[in-house]
Amino acid sequence: MRHFVGTAAAAAIALIAGTAVNAAQQQDFSKVEVKTTDLGHSTYMLEGAGGNVTVAVGSNGVIMVDSEFAPMHDKLKAAIAAVTKQPVRYLINTHYHGDHTGGNAAFGNEGVVIVAQRNIKNRLANPSPGANGQTPAAAPPAAIPTSLYTDKMTVAVAGPSAQLVHIANAHTDGDSFVYFPEANVMAVGDTGGPNRYPNMDVRGGGSIDGLIAGTQAYLDMANDRTKFVPGHGPLATKADFQAYHDMLVKIRASVAKLKTEGKTEDQAVAPGLCDAEIVRVRLEQRTGRRG
Ligand SMILES: [Zn+2]
Repeated sequence: MRHFVGTAAAAAIALIAGTAVNAAQQQDFSKVEVKTTDLGHSTYMLEGAGGNVTVAVGSNGVIMVDSEFAPMHDKLKAAIAAVTKQPVRYLINTHYHGDHTGGNAAFGNEGVVIVAQRNIKNRLANPSPGANGQTPAAAPPAAIPTSLYTDKMTVAVAGPSAQLVHIANAHTDGDSFVYFPEANVMAVGDTGGPNRYPNMDVRGGGSIDGLIAGTQAYLDMANDRTKFVPGHGPLATKADFQAYHDMLVKIRASVAKLKTEGKTEDQAVAPGLCDAEIVRVRLEQRTGRRG
């Protein structure tokens, strides 16, 4: 089953990765406006180009989660400056993808400490070949996280703290979710989101089992008032993520059943054979659309 899901997901990621690169190349970042949403307790969600950013402001510095594409650096800094005079002290990467780590080098050059699960370091410094056989360029030294952890870590400034928890082999092999207890905000990177289908970077160590275990882990830490910042898309609730988790479980079971019946991947996604949900997933993967 893993292989079955992995094959479809690998194709999806190849397309998605290509889409992200193309988007970065084609997008006119000068026209992007950063939207800031106040989450309470001096914590904010920033939406620009690339993955969503979470910012927690303390009296002596700022903790930031993810850094969008590289050209967004100045706009992100301006959005942060609009809510505080304090400098960014820590930049946490939820995973290695370029739409979440593109700004690393610029922030790193400013002395910001980049924090990540240790597998990200190697993914950025020694990239694996993509589905097209080409190996992406290594990230510059300033973009490489310097504060690494394995399973759990807490990062704090005066005021807010950020609890980092590693999810093994979910969206990638270096995922972190980040919980801000004071504000009751959960930043989950690309492990999920409302109205999103599973997104597993199999070449980057992702898997459906890890995705399900990971979503369960942060649901267990959350409550009905927790504000969820997904990697892409709007702010969400625990109920949204419970529904997402349940969809993952359902899809895994559906695919496992078809696999047991000896269906090939193409047969399994043929309309009418499996539930429509899987067909939609596959079609979205083939067209490279993000859910
Ligand atoms: Zn991603």
